[in-house]
Amino acid sequence: MAKRTPSIDTKNVTAVQLMELDSCVRCGECVKWCPTYAASGEKPGLAPRDKILRWRQYMNKSYGFKAKIFGPEEIPQSELEQFKDDVYGCTTCGVCATVCEAGINTVELWEALRTNLVKKGIGPYGKLGTIPKLIKQYHNAYMLDQKDRLAWVPTDVKIADKADILYFTGCTAGYKQLSLAFATSRVLNKLGIKFSMLGEEEWCCGSNPIRTGQIDYEDVAREAARHNVEAIQKKGAKKVLFACAGCFRAAKVDWPRLLGKELPFEVIHITQFLADLIKEDKIKWEKPINKTVTYHDPCHLGRHVGVFNAPRFVLSHIPGVKFVEMERSKEFQRCCGAGGGVKAGMPDLAVAIGEARVKDALETDADILSSACPFCKRNLSDGRDSLKADIVVEDVIELVAEALGLSTT
Ligand code: SF4
Ligand code: SF4
Repeated sequence: MAKRTPSIDTKNVTAVQLMELDSCVRCGECVKWCPTYAASGEKPGLAPRDKILRWRQYMNKSYGFKAKIFGPEEIPQSELEQFKDDVYGCTTCGVCATVCEAGINTVELWEALRTNLVKKGIGPYGKLGTIPKLIKQYHNAYMLDQKDRLAWVPTDVKIADKADILYFTGCTAGYKQLSLAFATSRVLNKLGIKFSMLGEEEWCCGSNPIRTGQIDYEDVAREAARHNVEAIQKKGAKKVLFACAGCFRAAKVDWPRLLGKELPFEVIHITQFLADLIKEDKIKWEKPINKTVTYHDPCHLGRHVGVFNAPRFVLSHIPGVKFVEMERSKEFQRCCGAGGGVKAGMPDLAVAIGEARVKDALETDADILSSACPFCKRNLSDGRDSLKADIVVEDVIELVAEALGLSTT
């Protein structure tokens, strides 16, 4: 009798990750913190511990002692489909990694499992599969013309053809959330910072395919990294500024990994850049913002890259701002709900998480819930609107622009 082949394989799952599966001690700490599990009404399948234990079980059924003697035990397709849905019901926020008693690098694990399922033809979830195709064809997921990359630039903004500093706008700020691009460019102009941009040579950073397990889809993500790095080099930039946490994470962590080399320039988030200028006393504020402001750490800026203090430093130096912290902040922050493909794939779940985060902010009595990423702004705004809550959602760079007397429209 022909030996049955295992229902799963280990493609893209490293030896360390296979050992990590065994190191889970089932303490349940991750379950207490997971934002998708909480916002879903505690759907058991979404609990990080449950996903780890299921994959461990699948590995045993496929490659364990009994499987070696009697052949692998079949895992029903319907079960694998459900597992796929649960692995995609995760914003890859990383709080489960922060609190994990066993030190499991869960973000890397979820991405590896997603890639594994995609290779097996089980993933990705729903319409997420179209995004890499769109990026390949249009170089952005919004299907907009590359020629319009700079269509947002108002007549008062001055962009240099070449400069040591380059502002990488990102598809979302450049096509959809223009106020962030207006604010960033006007703030740089006002501070006398000469900067260039890539214009139609700026391609999607590749974050979505990477986070959704489609890193190998026709090499879209690697090609995006290679193209952007070469285009930035051609511009002669030494320092690249990002106001989008997702693009920043992709450039800082994913591009070097995909290309197998260090980047030939420095990448920095705009809040870090501004914090340095404040320390050098190079910012002259013009208008106080007499409001209570709290700050939501974007997962891609905070837990993924470790930038926690710069945005707080900037906010607390804006005259008039009374800065307050939410109970869950910094490493323990609750995700806004937009990441990991959840906003595109499971929008209702994303808004439910956004609502939970807005409730966290309301507990502080803040007037303004700020963040430093267009995706956070969008989903926190959706959560606020869904709750009909009375709180303003604004990016740190918009608040800086306002305090410098600049318009963001
Ligand atoms: S990364 Fe975040 S959303 Fe995903 S399982 Fe862990 S805690 Fe939950
Ligand atoms: S916190 Fe870590 S060790 Fe504890 S149940 Fe979750 S994954 Fe397992």
